[in-house]
Amino acid sequence: MNALPPSLVARIPKVELHCHVAGTLRTQTLAALAAQYGIALPRQADQLYVYRDFYDFIEVLRLVAQVLRTPADFARVAYEALEDAFRLGNVQHTEMSFNPQYFLPAGASYHAQVDGLAAGIAEAERDFGVSALLLVAFDREWSPSNAAETMDLVLANRHERVVGIGLDGPERAGPPATFQAVYRRATQAGLRKTAHVCEDNQTLAEAPPSHFGDCIDLLQCDRLDHGYNLLADAATVQRARDSGVFFTTCGVTSVAKNRDRRLKAIRQMADAGLRITLNTDDPAMFHTDMTHTYQHVLDGLHWGWAEAGALSLAGVDACWLDDAAKAALRQRFSDQLAAIAPTQPTSTTASNATSLS
Ligand SMILES: [Zn+2]
Repeated sequence: MNALPPSLVARIPKVELHCHVAGTLRTQTLAALAAQYGIALPRQADQLYVYRDFYDFIEVLRLVAQVLRTPADFARVAYEALEDAFRLGNVQHTEMSFNPQYFLPAGASYHAQVDGLAAGIAEAERDFGVSALLLVAFDREWSPSNAAETMDLVLANRHERVVGIGLDGPERAGPPATFQAVYRRATQAGLRKTAHVCEDNQTLAEAPPSHFGDCIDLLQCDRLDHGYNLLADAATVQRARDSGVFFTTCGVTSVAKNRDRRLKAIRQMADAGLRITLNTDDPAMFHTDMTHTYQHVLDGLHWGWAEAGALSLAGVDACWLDDAAKAALRQRFSDQLAAIAPTQPTSTTASNATSLS
């Protein structure tokens, strides 16, 4: 088959649904904010995202948590995240998650965090013609009672940009059932719900297929992040297909030795009829962007134009814009895809494309 040329992949309109604010910071911005607050960097700025090991990566995340304090800091980071997503990946709609728990200890109130992020988003919308929404994420390594307190803040400070909640961090530290009460409150408040589940850098014992059912039954999730480990259980695969739930898969993982396995899992999910979208997770920290991620997956799986188009539209179908905005975005994406479609088929597997959505 013929691989899609990078210039074409760059022009594909894209939606990003799995992206953590803390993973989007440019290294120069992280260094500048650290200097502003008198915090020493562990190494040169251009080496910040070259990790010695997992614990070193966690240290860098802790650094991010210390340098975002004022609404202006959050606005800058949100704006730059959307600018980079648009310029590097032609991302036209983004749903970014942030963990209020990380930033409260350094003095950033929930209100300050949301106001700042929303201001940065509004500015990026004006400058780039994109759109974005926010999700509040809870880290499973923090206690359910801390998540409940954070939920109090979310509900006491409702903001039109914050449309949903998520759950991240190691699954063994907090299985989905642990957070059932928080998710029930989100349902009652009309918030959408997602959760990281069955992520493949964790073992089947740590992130088992059964967590999928718990996310659907107990947390009543509308969408799920990752999902690869559920492939280990045929009955769960069938249930996932029947549910029609979208998975926000990520083509690039932080654990280099697992990258081929990740690609294979994405193909298996698509082949099994699960609804998948492509996303970056932590674009700056993982040295990727949406165009790079698309290219990595399309080339790695020998997918062509039909699959690329299906992934692009799946991002729209899985997003949490209101119905009118979603319909308008789908029309815009369809028009843009039609305008750039190659005249010759670029993949021998084009007939399989419908399995993606
Ligand atoms: Zn993630």
